[in-house]
Amino acid sequence: MEQTYRGRFAPSPSGELHFGSLLAAMASYADARAHNGQWLLRIDDIDQARVVPDSAEHIIRTLEQLGFEWDESIYYQSRHIRDYRKALDILHKKNLTYPCFCSRKQIKNRSSNGIYPGTCRPNNQADKTTGDKECAIRIKVPDKALSFKDQIQGDYTQQLAQEVGDFIIYRRDKVFTYQLSIVVDEYLSHITHIVRGHDLLDSTPRQIYLQQQLGFPTLVYAHIPLAVTPQQLKLSKLSRARKVRCDLPTLVQAAHFLGQEIAPAHNYQSLQDFWQHLFDIWQLKRVPKMEKIEIMY
Ligand SMILES: [Zn+2]
Repeated sequence: MEQTYRGRFAPSPSGELHFGSLLAAMASYADARAHNGQWLLRIDDIDQARVVPDSAEHIIRTLEQLGFEWDESIYYQSRHIRDYRKALDILHKKNLTYPCFCSRKQIKNRSSNGIYPGTCRPNNQADKTTGDKECAIRIKVPDKALSFKDQIQGDYTQQLAQEVGDFIIYRRDKVFTYQLSIVVDEYLSHITHIVRGHDLLDSTPRQIYLQQQLGFPTLVYAHIPLAVTPQQLKLSKLSRARKVRCDLPTLVQAAHFLGQEIAPAHNYQSLQDFWQHLFDIWQLKRVPKMEKIEIMY
């Protein structure tokens, strides 16, 4: 049986939907629909300290006003804490995890490149200080290369041990990390394809490694260029990166940035008309193979 395509868009509710996140929403949506696939909406609200009140509702309303139509009910990370804990238990039983008591300052002092030197790894004879009683939980990574083929950026290889180190999956402040939570989310939602911003390319090997250890399938990845200002600032970092305008010219502009040969806005009778045309002509291979694209903002 041919595998069905299931994609998703997963904004963090930490502000309004800006043009950079619109690009990720559009690319994931159009690629799913062009493959007759399903497209789900997830709200990445696990880190409650970063959640801006009402911003999830604003993002959802903005997507609706732009004509996005998602399948199934919206998935909220904050309702899946038990699932993340189960995943942590599985990794723990496989003897892959260990508590880490190091402070950020201690790691900085012991590592020239900022990569965690494995101080708290069991059987490590290095001098240990217990520091605070509160601890984070890290996962051991193997000393070998992990490679995957990105559908836009091409072959990508990372040496997890040298370039990342044993990484945190459960934080000292008792929050499951992005890496662990989204791997569980994609699995529970039966996601098959990920289309998202280039800033997440280098965390993909960590996610594939977690998928492998948890016995989850590896997904198909595509990383689109990140929208930055001419000063190279990420839009999400700009306080003035306000909500996108909910109109046809904004959608047409976004499709252009994604390399698609779309007609000017006046050619479309409605938002639905635009979307149908985009689904018909969408080609992932037209998306620029770049890390960033500058936009005037
Ligand atoms: Zn440590």
